[in-house]
Amino acid sequence: MLKLQRRILQEVDAAQDMSEALQIVVKRVREALETQACTIYLKDAKQHDYVLMATDGLKVNPDDPIRVQPGQGLVGLVVQRGEPLNLESAPSHPDFFFHPDSGEERLHAYLGVPISYNRQVLGVLTVQEEEQRRFDVAEEALLVTMAAQLAGVVAKASAQVGVDSSSDTAGLHEQISAQVLKGLGSVPGVAIGTAVVVYPPANLKAVPDKTVEDIATEIALFEEALVATRDEVKVLKERIATHLPEQEQTLFDAYLAMLSGHSLGNEVVSEIRAGNWAQGALRKVIKGHISAFEAMEDDYIRERITDIKDIGRRVLSHLQAGQKKVAQYPEQTILIGDEVTAAALAEVPEGHLAGVVSGSGSSNSHVAILARALGVPTAMSVANITLSEAEGQEVIIDGYHGQVYIAPSEKLRRQFLALAKQEEELDADLEALRDMPAETPDGHCVALCVNTGLAADAGLSLTVGAEGVGLYRTEMAFIARDHFPTEEQQKVIYKQLLAAFAPRPVIMRTLDVGGDKELPYLPIQEDNPFLGWRGIRITLDHPDIMLVQMRAMLRASEGYPNLRIMFPMISHVSELDEALRFLRQAHSEVIEEGCQVNMPLVGVMIEVPAAVYQARLLARRVDFLSIGSNDLTQYILAVDRNNSRVANLYDALHPAVLMALQEVVTCAHAENKQVSICGEMAGDPLAAILLLGMGFDALSMNSASLPRIRWVIRNFTLVHAKELLQQVLHMDNPLMIRRHLETVLDQAGLGGLIRAGR
Ligand code: PEP
Ligand code: MG
Repeated sequence: MLKLQRRILQEVDAAQDMSEALQIVVKRVREALETQACTIYLKDAKQHDYVLMATDGLKVNPDDPIRVQPGQGLVGLVVQRGEPLNLESAPSHPDFFFHPDSGEERLHAYLGVPISYNRQVLGVLTVQEEEQRRFDVAEEALLVTMAAQLAGVVAKASAQVGVDSSSDTAGLHEQISAQVLKGLGSVPGVAIGTAVVVYPPANLKAVPDKTVEDIATEIALFEEALVATRDEVKVLKERIATHLPEQEQTLFDAYLAMLSGHSLGNEVVSEIRAGNWAQGALRKVIKGHISAFEAMEDDYIRERITDIKDIGRRVLSHLQAGQKKVAQYPEQTILIGDEVTAAALAEVPEGHLAGVVSGSGSSNSHVAILARALGVPTAMSVANITLSEAEGQEVIIDGYHGQVYIAPSEKLRRQFLALAKQEEELDADLEALRDMPAETPDGHCVALCVNTGLAADAGLSLTVGAEGVGLYRTEMAFIARDHFPTEEQQKVIYKQLLAAFAPRPVIMRTLDVGGDKELPYLPIQEDNPFLGWRGIRITLDHPDIMLVQMRAMLRASEGYPNLRIMFPMISHVSELDEALRFLRQAHSEVIEEGCQVNMPLVGVMIEVPAAVYQARLLARRVDFLSIGSNDLTQYILAVDRNNSRVANLYDALHPAVLMALQEVVTCAHAENKQVSICGEMAGDPLAAILLLGMGFDALSMNSASLPRIRWVIRNFTLVHAKELLQQVLHMDNPLMIRRHLETVLDQAGLGGLIRAGR
C-alpha cells in the first residue's frame, strides 16, 4: 500500500495544476480500490459550501458543478462530523440525498472521509460502489491516508499565489485567485510594491515562470550553463575514473549525453523561444522527463529520475550563478517566496525593500525579527506559495493581519494607499515625540532601548531616541564570515558600536548560535536543535571562543565604559558561575596586558523556565536580568518559534508566560537588581501596557517599534497599566487577553498601532 501511495503522490507532485492533481487522485484511487466512483469535494470559502471538484465515475456537468451545504447529504454529514462514514448501503441512510443525473442512485457501498487541515474540513474524498458491502479496514486506511496527504496539497493551493490560468477548470482556480492570501501578521504596517520572487538556489521545483523579451540572450545564457555543466561532469568523471569500475562510469556518459545540445538542450531552447526564461524553461523540461519516467513500471528506469534531477540542479546552479548578476530590485520591492531567508533580505539594496511575504516561518523566526528591525511590513507563513505568476505583480501587504493581495483591483489599491498615507502621518507625529521621555502621565519612567546587531538596522537605531542598546546580537558578525572572527576583528566591530552609542549603555550578548542560527563553519546536526547545543552551552564548551570574544569586548571598552555583557540560554546556575569565571579571567588578562578597563556590569538572560524558577539566585550573582521572551515563550509553551504548523499556539500573551514575566520582575527587584525585556514582545504595543504594569525598568526592541511604544507609555498611567495587568491575569486564554487590550488601546485613541490607518 505504501508503494501505491508513493506512486500516486509522485504523480500528484508532478501535476501541472491543482485540477490535474485532483483528477489523478480520483482516477488512481478508483483503480486501486476497484470501485465505480471516486470523488473529491472541496470547500468554497466564499460560498460556505462544498463543490465537486473531481470525479472518476459520477456524471457531472462541468458548467454546473454539484454543490453541497454542510450538513446536507452524506458529504455534508462527513463535513459536520469530521470523521469517516462507511456505509453498506448509502440509499438506505436517512441523510442520503442524491443528485439527479449523477448516477449515484445505483451505488450502494459508500465511504467518505474528511480532508482535514489545521482543524478545518477542507473537503471530502469519497468512493462508491454498486455492491452492498462495507469497505474493509485496508480500504478505509488507504482512503484516510490519501485524504491526509491531500490535505497538505489542498491547503497549499488555497493560498496559492501563482494561479495557472492555462487551466480550463473554472472551479477551484477561480475561487482561489479571488481570495486574499492569509498568513501571520508579523511586522505591522501597510506595504504596496512590486513582487520579486526569491527561491532557494539550485531548487528546480521552486523556480517560477517569467516572460522574457530578449530571447537570444536567454538562449545564450542557457548554452553557457550547459557548457559549464558539461565541463563540470567531465572533470567529475576524470576525477572518479580511477576509483570506479568501468560500468559505473557509464553514468557520467549518460549525463554527458543528456547534456548534449540535441537532447535536453533542444527542448529547453524551444521553451525559451516560446517566451519563458531559461530557468523556467529548464524546470518545465526536467519536470516533463521526470513525469514520463515516473509513469514507467521498470524500477531501473524509475531510478534514473535521480540522475535527471541531478542534471537539472547542476544546470540550474550555473544558470543562477550567471543570472544573479542581473537581479533587479524595483524601488518598492516586496520579497516573496516559499522561504524568504535573512540572506535574501540582505541582498536587496538599501532603501528598496518595502515588504516581505514568506510561505514558511513564524513571527519569531529570525528573518521576521530582521524585517521588523528594518521596519518592513511582513506576513509570514502564507502557506506554501507557488509563485509562477507573482513576479513583477503589484502586491499589497497588510502586516497587521497578515493579509496579502496579489495584483489588487484599482479600488483596493486606492483604499490601501489611503491607509499607507495615514500611517506615514502617524509616523511623522511619532517622530515629533522623539526627544520626549518615555514617561507615563503619572510620572513613571521606563527606559526604551534598541535591539541591534542585525546588519542594516544600526543606522535606524541611532535615530529613534533610544536610551541605549538593550541587546546587541553579536552572532551576526560570526554568521557573515566563513571563519571565526579574530579578537582584533571583533574588537573593531564592538568599539564602533560602543562609540556610536556612548555614553548610553550597550548590552552585548555573548555568542548565541545553535537552534536556528548556524555558523557555516560549525555545522551542528541534532534532532532537537532548540533543546540542544546552543547559546552558552556552546561557548562554555569552547572556552577559546568565549575568552576571545570577552577579551575583544573588554579591549573595545577601553575609553568606553558603557559596555555591559550578558549571557544567553542559562539553564543552570553553575553555567552562570562558569561564565563569570571566564569573564574574570579575560578581565585580568587584558589588565595584565596594560589595558585600562573596569569590569563591566554583567547580566543574565532569562530564556528558559528553569531560569524563571531560579531568578533570585541568578539575580544575586549579577547586576541585571534581561528576559528573552522569544525563547522563554517557546520553552514555556513547548512551541517551536519557527514552526508555522504550531504558530497559532505561540503567543507571548499566554497567561503562563505573563505570570513567568511577573515572577522574574519580582525576583530581580527583591534583589535590588534592574530587569529588562529584550524579546519581540517589548515592541508589541499590546504587550507593552502589561510590561509597564509589571514594573520592568527597561524595554528593548527593534528600532522601528520604539516610537510607537513611547506613544503607548506616554498615554497610560502606571496605575491604569497595573489594573489592566490584574484584569488579564484573571483571564484564561491569550485570545481574550489580546481582544481586551485591543479594545483598551482603541478607547485610548491608539487604534492606529494595531491596524492599518490611524
Ligand atoms: C529572545 O529569545 O527573546 C531573544 C531576545 O533572543 P533571540 O531572539 O536572539 O533568540
Ligand atoms: Mg533567545
